[in-house]
Amino acid sequence: MGPVPQPRTASGSAEQNGHQRLVGIGAGPANLGLAALLHGDPQQPNLFIDRKPSFTWHDDQLITGATLQVSIFKDLVSLSDPTNRFSFMSYLHEHGRMYHFLNAQFAEVPRNEFRNYLAWAAETNENVVFSESVERVDFDGVFRVTTNRRQITADNIAVGVGTVPWVPEFAEPHLGKGHFHVSQYLSHAKELAGKRVAVIGGGQSGAEAFLDLISRPESERPAWVSWVSRRRNYFPIDDSTFTNDFYMPGYSDYFYRLSESKRAELNSAHLLSSDGISESTLRAIYQQLYRLQFIERDEHRFGLLPNRTVMSADRTGTGTFEVSLRHNDESGQSQCLPVDAVVWATGFRPAPKAFLEPLMDRVETENGEVRVDEDYAISWDGPPDRNIFVQNAVRGQRGLPDVNLSLNAWRAQRIANRLRGLNAPEPAMSFIDWSAKNGRGTQWTR
Ligand SMILES: Cc1cc2nc3c(=O)[nH]c(=O)nc-3n(C[C@H](O)[C@H](O)[C@H](O)COP(=O)(O)OP(=O)(O)OC[C@H]3O[C@@H](n4cnc5c(N)ncnc54)[C@H](O)[C@@H]3O)c2cc1C
Repeated sequence: MGPVPQPRTASGSAEQNGHQRLVGIGAGPANLGLAALLHGDPQQPNLFIDRKPSFTWHDDQLITGATLQVSIFKDLVSLSDPTNRFSFMSYLHEHGRMYHFLNAQFAEVPRNEFRNYLAWAAETNENVVFSESVERVDFDGVFRVTTNRRQITADNIAVGVGTVPWVPEFAEPHLGKGHFHVSQYLSHAKELAGKRVAVIGGGQSGAEAFLDLISRPESERPAWVSWVSRRRNYFPIDDSTFTNDFYMPGYSDYFYRLSESKRAELNSAHLLSSDGISESTLRAIYQQLYRLQFIERDEHRFGLLPNRTVMSADRTGTGTFEVSLRHNDESGQSQCLPVDAVVWATGFRPAPKAFLEPLMDRVETENGEVRVDEDYAISWDGPPDRNIFVQNAVRGQRGLPDVNLSLNAWRAQRIANRLRGLNAPEPAMSFIDWSAKNGRGTQWTR
């Protein structure tokens, strides 16, 4: 077993202050994959900077029992560079737990084990530093990246700043006063004992919060929990074989070449292949409801309210809240939910990138996104060998996989290949002929 890595912060060493081939802004899974692929290449000196004090991965949502929603092969590197030392397999090996992992036979990998793997990859890569925030990027032939500590120059930058929690505007003034976003769930969940709680949002995060609240021991359980969703029912993620072909590189390239309006249509049509709830979570919820209603005979503790849109959340004179719901099918029907607390599981939006402001009048945009080429480099008026790569910021152009882990390793490989001037072979195409332009599936060959 290798040494247990210690958290590091920015060392400010000579190499780290020197000119870089690439500076990465943010060190979440997206940029960590790129950092792993570039690691050890003397032609590609690189530095990845993250403002957090140390690595975390949605830590305040690591509810007991939460699992990864994708295959463990979708780690930082395996799908593009399986022998890379930052693979999940390498993590298991270094920690002496290969056999245990196999014998555990996880149907779904615990999310905190994947989080620990990511932390190990960040902490054992000396090109990744924490406690440093990028504040501004200028360009004068090279990129000048200004952080709260120093200025670094680079030929290229890779922006991987992820997403930030989102709540409806009318909820914003209430945050912190009994209302919180699910990204802060563990910090607040204990305050909910004995209260009337609404969980708003019918995706995986809302489902996990609802399951946790109805499964808590009696002393920590809310008096009442309602689970509200705009969707018509609590729909599962579609993780079936052919649907997963949407999460292959070939489909991503096909999608990229479609018209803007067609891409928007497909993202909406296929949303549940990404944003639905794991079947195991749905089953656990259903079984717990059965226990509560028929075994514990505790039937007045939960409410299931799908197919409703939250219209407002107002504070009453007594300090509680009234959440107003509009039914989506029954015209004119609304309901009022009196609650003490609200968990907003209403999703995430791309993180603001104010540090790019000095360059924004030089870049192309499309429908609120920066426009990227096939290698995730922003189209701009700078020299062609000076690139601004973006990861997890162009769902409109690259589709639903852009925000999740599925194409992380492949996307990072595309960027690494561009830096190295390589045209590496792509994975074999899907069995499906997405495009009518290649005609493969219509030709009989012997
Ligand atoms: C609870 C949860 C569970 C998920 N589970 C799955 C899953 O099972 N499967 C799946 O495919 N996807 C999952 N996702 C979606 C996706 O994989 C993750 O959101 C993933 O973390 C995205 O990676 P990222 O690197 O793009 O962004 P992030 O992980 O958000 O990382 C961005 C980093 O940038 C840093 N940063 C931001 N601004 C600056 C700055 N100015 N200077 C320096 N650093 C900065 C931040 O500190 C942060 O560390 C999940 C999402 C959530 C919320």
